[in-house]
This record gives sequence, structure tokens and C-alpha cells, in this order.
Amino acid sequence: MVSVFEAEQIIQAQARSYGRGLVPFESALGRVLAEDIKADRDLPPCNRVTMDGIAISYAAFENGIRSFNIKATIAAGDAPVEIENENECVEIMTGGALPDTTDTVIRYEDVDIKNGNATILTDDIKKGQNLHRKGRDKKQGDIVATANRVIDPALVSMAASVGKSMLLVKQLPKVVIISTGGELVNVAAQPTDWQVRRSNNYAVRAVLQQYGLQADMLHIPDEPEITKEQISNCIAQYDVLILSGGVSMGKFDYVPQALEELQVTKLFHKVQQRPGKPFWFGKHTNGALVFAFPGNPVSTFMCLHRYFLPWLEASLKQMPNLNSNRIPIPNSQFPIPKLCAILNAAVTFVAPLQYFVQVKLNINEQGQLLATPMEGNGSGDFANLLDTDAFMELPLERSNFSKGEVFRIWPFKRII
Ligand code: AMP
Ligand code: MG
Repeated sequence: MVSVFEAEQIIQAQARSYGRGLVPFESALGRVLAEDIKADRDLPPCNRVTMDGIAISYAAFENGIRSFNIKATIAAGDAPVEIENENECVEIMTGGALPDTTDTVIRYEDVDIKNGNATILTDDIKKGQNLHRKGRDKKQGDIVATANRVIDPALVSMAASVGKSMLLVKQLPKVVIISTGGELVNVAAQPTDWQVRRSNNYAVRAVLQQYGLQADMLHIPDEPEITKEQISNCIAQYDVLILSGGVSMGKFDYVPQALEELQVTKLFHKVQQRPGKPFWFGKHTNGALVFAFPGNPVSTFMCLHRYFLPWLEASLKQMPNLNSNRIPIPNSQFPIPKLCAILNAAVTFVAPLQYFVQVKLNINEQGQLLATPMEGNGSGDFANLLDTDAFMELPLERSNFSKGEVFRIWPFKRII
């Protein structure tokens, strides 16, 4: 049995790159960028007007001129039209390109327009007002987003703006999610009272979809020969196997034995934690990794968030070694971020295990994140996952945890 910290270290040491590839920017949400994105031109690309109104030369205003002949009207997207003398102005709309012969924009609210003439109604005018200057945000060639960033909506927008219709992203590992258990039936089936519909595999697949990862699924009955044969096929075809069930001490728990017979080296079996104690982790000689989680839905869910996702994130942030895309990089240089919250009620847990208590998250008036424990009825109580937002990780060494103490959390929902 290993501690949670040891299990994390062993797993993170298996972080590796799976190479990189091009995807259309519209399908890249949630993926990890594998190249720096540069501005293809200045941002903004011209001196852009930020208010509807007129553009003048400020020198004319300084010379006391208040009334201007309107030379032209410029809409956003039009090429600029220059004025020929200081008595002229142009009408210009938000987003329009400022003519070089003008330098100041006065909004319509401060102008009276009659018979092709614009009269300025205010003295409060500053040179260069109401403009977003060319190159003010980024210069052509500047990096606007660096490699290793998760592609979020702002990045999708930037890719569109700079004309990057294809983005180089980190390749995802090929993952298969394997459910085990003779009691499990299809979702469409009507189970007897002693059967259950398969659900863990869908939970895992839904979580992975948030990373753009489309995993395959497979079900294996509790039969030692079939278990061995099917796992063997998967090891040959996939980078990662995520199993749920069949790793405990039960008479029909054939997974650990099958894995060891298939030359999957056991890196640990059992972690000092609740839920998820029987978690088995190993690696085949071909590099395939096996995360075999206990089948209780809360256990599978917790282990996925606590161990698999940090491993996936560390793997996606590795820079690909272009000679080989399967080189493990020990002691990942990407530490797992420590997200914490304030425990909002006392918890007592006496077993010598690291306790992952389910919590509901709220933000108090001081803007602090509060975690209210909602323990549920053990690791089979998956209904409780719908009412909670995160697991809070309470240290192994202690039994009593007070309201107001701060501990690490593993959110499994959007916080806001
Ligand atoms: P096991 O780890 O195989 O002993 O399973 C522990 C509990 O989790 C049992 O009550 C199983 O019925 C349940 N379980 C295992 N796999 C799944 C699954 N894919 N979906 C829903 N429940 C499961
Ligand atoms: Mg089972």
C-alpha cells in the first residue's frame, strides 16, 4: 500500500508526450496548444476609431476653428479618405480607419451637423481622443499565445483574428475505458434488482470529452480468460487503459492477476485513501499505462480526478520529443496546481486513510471559497455526486478537521 503522495509521484513520473498534430481552430477547444501563435499584422491594424462622430486635425481646433465641411463619410471597412485643408473633417464610424490627415475624433453627441457642415459644441477635446492606435495591443510578429496553453474561447477568438485556421496541438493518448462486472447491463436494458446499468464508463468518458479526448469503451465479464484476452488486445491497441471494478479482494476480481500475467508491471496496488483504496496502477513493456480503479462509482470518479487528470495534464504539457513520442519524462516539471478552500463545518474521520470528502462549494462575501462537507452514504452513493462540486483532501495524519481550516480541493464541476 502506498500513500496518496507516493501514488501521485509514481503516476506523474509516467507523464509523456504523445506528439502533436494539426486541428481546425474551431475544433480545438480544450486541447493544448503545441506552437506559439503570432500576430500576422499589427493589432489593431490601423488607427481605429472607437466612437461614431467626426475626425478633424487637432491643429485646426487649436487655431480656433469650430465648424468643418464634411469631406466624406467613412464606414468601418472603408479605405480612409484624406481631408485637403484644416477646414474639412470626415464623418467616421466606430471601427473605421482614421485618415492620416486627421488625428482626433469628436463623438456625434458633441457635434451639430447641418447642411454638410459639422460644428463642435464643446471645448473639452483632447488631441488623439477616441482612437485605438495601430499596433497598440500587439505588433506584427509578437507572440499572442504561447505553447502549452489550454485552448479556451479567448484563444479561439485570437486564432480567428490572426488567420490561424489550423492549430498545432498536443496529440491525445488513445484511451480505452473498460468496465468489468457480471452484474452490469447495458443502459437500454431493464435490470433485475440484483443487476445495475453500467455508468462509470460513461462518467469517465464524459470527463475526458472536456479535454477533447474521445475514448473507446469495452465491457468485460468477470471471467479470467476473457479478462486476460480482452486486456491483452487493448494493451496492443491503446496508450492508456482505464478500468473500473475487479481490483479488490473479491472472488471474482480477476483484473490484477490478468494484468500481471500480461507483463503489466505493477507500480502500486492499494492507496491509503477513502474512497478508492484498491486502486491498481501499472505499465506494460510497450509503454501502455493501466489505471485500474475500484468499481464503486465515487471511487472511480475520485481516482480519475485525483490521479488520471493531473497525469493527462502533465503529459499534454510535455514538449514532444520529435524523434520518439513515447519517451517518459520522470519527475514531471509541471507541478499539480494546489487549489484550496475553507472547510465550512467540522469533519471527523478516524481511519488511517487520506479522506476525500465530497463538498459543496460556495463563495462568501469576502470572495473566499467555502467547502461544505456532504459526506453521502459511502463510495456507492453516486447520487451524492450530483449535489456536490468537489472532493476535499483531508490529511492522513489527523482525525479531526475544524471549520475554518484550509485544505486542497479537486473540483469536478464548474465552480461558477
Ligand atoms: P468492484 O470494484 O468490481 O467490486 O465493484 C464495486 C461496486 O461498483 C459494485 O457494486 C459494482 O456493481 C459497481 N460498479 C462496478 N463497475 C461499475 C460500472 N461500470 N458502473 C456502475 N457501477 C459499477
Ligand atoms: Mg466487480
